Amino acid sequence: MSAGENKLGRSLRGFNRYGSFFIAFVLLIELVLSYFYFMSYDHPYKRLLLNLILLILFFEIFLTVTMASISYTYRSNQVRSGILLFLQFGLKFMLPVCIAAAELLNSDVDDIRRIYIRINNALAAAVKREIRPEQVLVLLPHCMQNKDCGSKITEDIGRCAQCGRCRIGEVRELTRAVGARAAVVGGGTAARSLVREMRPDLILAVACERELLSGIADVGAIPVIGIINERPNGYCCNTSLDVKQFAEKLGCVIGACHSERSEESQTMRECE
Ligand code: SF4
Repeated sequence: MSAGENKLGRSLRGFNRYGSFFIAFVLLIELVLSYFYFMSYDHPYKRLLLNLILLILFFEIFLTVTMASISYTYRSNQVRSGILLFLQFGLKFMLPVCIAAAELLNSDVDDIRRIYIRINNALAAAVKREIRPEQVLVLLPHCMQNKDCGSKITEDIGRCAQCGRCRIGEVRELTRAVGARAAVVGGGTAARSLVREMRPDLILAVACERELLSGIADVGAIPVIGIINERPNGYCCNTSLDVKQFAEKLGCVIGACHSERSEESQTMRECE
């Protein structure tokens, strides 16, 4: 098994663990309420209790299908139109709950965040839209710049001399070749104001799991495709990027993926 597959398997195991705990917790509430329902004979609130039990039962089923949909999409890299609603619910509710629980326990957080990013990417790429290359904004983190480089690339990525000491030069060249825009940002605030200023139709963002998650939440309506960076020197110092993967995703967002859709199934293999 490759390192990538290992990571995918570990992420899924982490998500299944937290997702199952969450569902078990809701089930426990259901059982407690059911106990009170059956024990209270002529209670005036008995009908209300029954409605609540049925509502929680429906929620429980919804959670279970959501969990199965996330696992399926994560494994297969396919977004089926029939499970879109569950995936959106998973992104808005179930995955944030699992991430919050993992943060609380200080365990498997990045594993769950990776699932969130992958599902988000699949959904972002699955929406049918025409995107002109100049409406694509590539956002790179400042920590990708070689720490000994003096070029002020956060002001203008064009100042990169493409010396080869970091991946910024290659990314800049690839982006320029297809006519997309690219910028290096020093943090979330800079990224947000740049997005407000440039108003892109789609963002291709490179960052660590945590930054990607907060970036996706920050930009709201604009679809973001996240690429997790490589960190051979740890967080925030001379981080890197799989340029081949970046080139594939860039090519994909400006056209390649959209020609391969069918009504029933949208294969996201190239975008993922
Ligand atoms: S590739 Fe560009 S940003 Fe990276 S070290 Fe060289 S000049 Fe600096």
